[in-house]
Amino acid sequence: MTSLNDLPLRDDLRGREPYGAPQLAVPYALNTNENPYPPSEALVKALGEAVMDVAGSLNRYPDRDAVALREDLAAFLDTDTPGVGLTGARVWAANGSNEIIQQILQAFGGAGRTALGFEPSYSMHPIITAVSGTRWVDASRDEDFGLEPERAVAAVEEHRPDIVFLTSPNNPTGTALPLAAIEAVLAAAPGMVVVDEAYAEFRRAGTPSALTLLDGHPRLIVTRTMSKAFAMAGTRLGYLAADPAVIDALLLVRLPYHLSAVTQAVARTALAHGEELLGGVEALRRERDDLVAWLRAEGLRVADSDANFVLFGTFPDRRRVWEGLLERGVLIREVGPPEWLRVSVGTPAEMAAFRTALRQARAAAPADGGPGNSDANTRNTGNSDAGNSEESL
Ligand SMILES: *Cc1c(COP(=O)(O)O)cnc(C)c1O
Repeated sequence: MTSLNDLPLRDDLRGREPYGAPQLAVPYALNTNENPYPPSEALVKALGEAVMDVAGSLNRYPDRDAVALREDLAAFLDTDTPGVGLTGARVWAANGSNEIIQQILQAFGGAGRTALGFEPSYSMHPIITAVSGTRWVDASRDEDFGLEPERAVAAVEEHRPDIVFLTSPNNPTGTALPLAAIEAVLAAAPGMVVVDEAYAEFRRAGTPSALTLLDGHPRLIVTRTMSKAFAMAGTRLGYLAADPAVIDALLLVRLPYHLSAVTQAVARTALAHGEELLGGVEALRRERDDLVAWLRAEGLRVADSDANFVLFGTFPDRRRVWEGLLERGVLIREVGPPEWLRVSVGTPAEMAAFRTALRQARAAAPADGGPGNSDANTRNTGNSDAGNSEESL
């Protein structure tokens, strides 16, 4: 039997584990921040027809530059953030925002270069960084999961990174960044600044998008995805908005015809039905706010969330709580700072199942501290090196 050790694998890949959020068949999957509402019957039909339309020409390569799709994405961003005035020339698309991030690292990272992030944050940033041969530096978030502009700027000035990652709203904490923090990093950064806005559509009223900073900042990249609010995780479609010169750079590294004709057709059909697909977002926001209030009333610490998930704790033995939930058919995510857990916001029925299971699991495992043990409504992690070893998606 051949093992990995027998192969001439790159030295820097030896000992690494593949990405592995558990994919288990459970009644209540609240672990990967998907939108719980599937497409309607009418939309399923429209998606099928769109695939039929391209099926007859699948002997040909797709539009290499996905021009029509990029125009549609630009039009959507204009409705999401009125006034940004984007065109297809300032939007780029790929197979999930993970591929977008990979292309950014291929173009602006690489051997001898550095990317900087503030953890706990999205674990794929350091993973894709490392796999691209780029050095990763974690400057860590504040105790309350925020990011003081002065500290962020000090980290940028110390490390002079080629790429800075900012995630807003942040995964796994749900924390949105004020524009002042992003502007301060933009002013100090010598290289590219990537603002990962995978959850932007869930942000609370009054929370601005970094899209509003694109004018005058040619090194800013704002990434988005159709996997979360847009309820199309299975389509694999991520995108970015940036200066056209940034897209010229990405054209150098992208694989030819990277977006299949099927993907382009399905994504365009979904965008044409955007109102329907995003129709559940308001309900999910309310469900999230109710969940935060309920968890606090249970005596738990909860991070404020502008996303479709909630980070809560603290549990001296979080694994036991996670397992207790799983035994009751509820799969959440063991991720982020060591004593915290993350739950995605689902349908009212899913959240009711989660609440019942959490109460039962905590009653059955008093070692977790039980109700009332931790300071309610505080967001102090007390641990800044958290989130490095666990993955979050
Ligand atoms: C889920 C997620 C993504 C990646 O999503 P894709 O499915 O690859 O588009 C990117 N960034 C963050 C912060 C995420 O949580």
